[in-house]
Amino acid sequence: MHDLRNKVAVVTGAASGIGRAIAEAYAKAGAKIVIADIQADAAQAAARALQDAGGTALGIAMDVTDEDQVNDGFARVADEWGPVDILVSNAGVQIISPIVDLAYADWKRMLAIHLDGAFLTTRAAMRQMTAAGNGGSIILMGSAHSHVASKFKAPYVTAKHGLLGLARTIAKEGAEHRIRANVICPGFVRTPLVEKQIPEQARELGISEEEVIRQVMLKDTVDGEFTTLEDIADVALFLAGFGSAALTGQSLTVSHGWSMN
Ligand code: NAD
Repeated sequence: MHDLRNKVAVVTGAASGIGRAIAEAYAKAGAKIVIADIQADAAQAAARALQDAGGTALGIAMDVTDEDQVNDGFARVADEWGPVDILVSNAGVQIISPIVDLAYADWKRMLAIHLDGAFLTTRAAMRQMTAAGNGGSIILMGSAHSHVASKFKAPYVTAKHGLLGLARTIAKEGAEHRIRANVICPGFVRTPLVEKQIPEQARELGISEEEVIRQVMLKDTVDGEFTTLEDIADVALFLAGFGSAALTGQSLTVSHGWSMN
């Protein structure tokens, strides 16, 4: 199940954090990895690091909200290695703000990165997968916030809930082409995205950073623990390699029991 030899995997937002950890796990399992990220230099560096570790990797500069960049990036992958077998739509950002203070531009930017990005990369991947006829696995990076809400994260919570609908629709349309779609819903993982919001939340709530960690982020976990990069990479490996459509249209929450949906 964990053998991804000769599979072509595109991971967006893979220059950092969770995406990078998934790319490393897929490379170890033998996949050819495309690191697609808006940070062009960091994408190249991450791809070089995978190559240095014996993997096969390509860094591509891609803003997932830009239709041409997405389509051109996927066309380049097909030219180099053939059709995509696995997509992990993972690129994401966070903006912390009460609804009453949230700029419309920030609302739209958040939905664009999380939802437009998932749509554009999914469409490009599905076009290649259906034409090739080899099936495929599409993984959308949701969040515990695909199932629960928190204050000051309106566009993030909205977008992450929306990904569940997209995955279920992909599962239905993709079935006849043996394309599966699932959502991974992590709890808090200590990546740059989370490190940045600890002081922001402390300011917004008027509490210390330690209190943000204990009383906000990990409050509802069963054991007060952060989820790790390895936890998410393991689940991404499992979902990518799963052998049938018994597992499609699902969301898998990996959050130390914070959300039990
Ligand atoms: P991160 O900041 O470490 O990495 C995010 C990556 O996405 C960066 O490399 C960034 O350059 C890239 N990116 C941002 N905008 C982009 C765009 N428009 N086009 C292409 N790339 C873009 O963050 P992370 O914590 O690894 O988050 C990855 C995903 O996991 C996100 O979707 C996030 O919402 C989700 N997630 C994270 C956590 C957590 O606790 N860290 C929990 C649940 C879900």
